[in-house]
Amino acid sequence: MRRLAVSLAALAAVAMAVAGFAPGPSAATPSADNPSYYSLKLPAGVTIADLIRDGYDISHGHGSRPTVVATPAEVDRLRDRGVVVGKTGNVYQPVIRSATDAAGTTYYGGYHTTAGHEQHNAAVTAAHPDLVKLYDIGDSWKKTKGQGGHDIQALCITKRAPGDCALDSTGKKPKFVLLSQIHAREIATGEIAYQWIDLLVTSYGTDPEITSLLGTRELWVIPIANPDGVDVVAANPAEPVLQRKNVNNSTGGCPAGDAGVDLNRNSGFQWDVQQGGPCDETYPGTKAGSEPETIAVQGLLEKIFRDTKGEVGEPAAAGTTGVFLTLHSFGNDILAPYSYTNTAAPDRAALVALGKKMGALNGFPVSTGDAGVGYFAPGATDDWLYGTRGVPSYTFEIGPDSGSGAGFFPAYTCFTKTLWPAQKPALLYAARAAATPYGQLP
Ligand SMILES: [Zn+2]
Repeated sequence: MRRLAVSLAALAAVAMAVAGFAPGPSAATPSADNPSYYSLKLPAGVTIADLIRDGYDISHGHGSRPTVVATPAEVDRLRDRGVVVGKTGNVYQPVIRSATDAAGTTYYGGYHTTAGHEQHNAAVTAAHPDLVKLYDIGDSWKKTKGQGGHDIQALCITKRAPGDCALDSTGKKPKFVLLSQIHAREIATGEIAYQWIDLLVTSYGTDPEITSLLGTRELWVIPIANPDGVDVVAANPAEPVLQRKNVNNSTGGCPAGDAGVDLNRNSGFQWDVQQGGPCDETYPGTKAGSEPETIAVQGLLEKIFRDTKGEVGEPAAAGTTGVFLTLHSFGNDILAPYSYTNTAAPDRAALVALGKKMGALNGFPVSTGDAGVGYFAPGATDDWLYGTRGVPSYTFEIGPDSGSGAGFFPAYTCFTKTLWPAQKPALLYAARAAATPYGQLP
């Protein structure tokens, strides 16, 4: 119910874009019905989990105050429940029209579409066969249904030697894996992957640190884990659609635009059916690993990482290698396992220690569990990889709650000037740390 107005507006926008009537720059001025960001202060007896179950789009729950994306009507209903609501910003920033291309490879001032990423992946693989191996690791939901869709693509970047970039765990080089845009509307995350790929392939042979990294690590990147969702987001280039989930609408009964499975609640570790109904933003699917995108990502990670961990309560083996980052937006946080519970992970101290090293470089604090705000994420990719394989795994929440570069849709100029430069040193550090993540940190 509560998303009907948003969904109809989004649908209209998609229809206009498809029909060739993409809104001009003036359309980027938020209308009165557009959702905005608000910080929340909850009264006694109301929890974030309650609001999520009631269909509110709590975009992140970490930090001192949760943030919601809400329409004016939703804000009125929250205030009726005693919630103190303060607007922190608009969802849409004005877009430089000339930077949104008609060929369909970029949108919203310069962000790359799924097609733009696919062209890029093919181009860097062709230009640098000594450094890049490109894999198709599975299909998106639409592709499995014969409705178009995409392959999920993964790149392995290293100075390739025999045995490198194999789809098994025999490789000698420790692995760093970067996963992006599993939540489609978190558009800065896919763009960080794009820039990261370019940084690695163009710096090899000139930058000593990156040359050394490619000689001693496998750097894996899944730039777009939810390509069908990104297609929905980018269908309206000046005001991207707030699509978070994949586009699986087989459960039925949801208003247009509200269907889909939250791929970051669908993994096969501590999966929790309680995360929301089919129309909610955190719907975990009918069972763990129900979605083809989840199977593709887990399938790759299961192949390339050895299982070095026992039961839930047992730590990872001391010689475990590898680091995994899943990028999300927003909140300027690093989240370390576990995210499904406040019970400390057996390797919590070591996980937090590595998190703080990365946080010293990007300025983000490190949290575990619900960070005191009652917002858990069972079935998340990072919990799954750490919980089943023992690989140190983290969520980076890219971008602030408010101000320039905030939210799901930061202006592209903020991305290039601020968001990407802030992450580059942390990513390079994570790759270095992959050799001894539980040992002596670099
Ligand atoms: Zn996310």
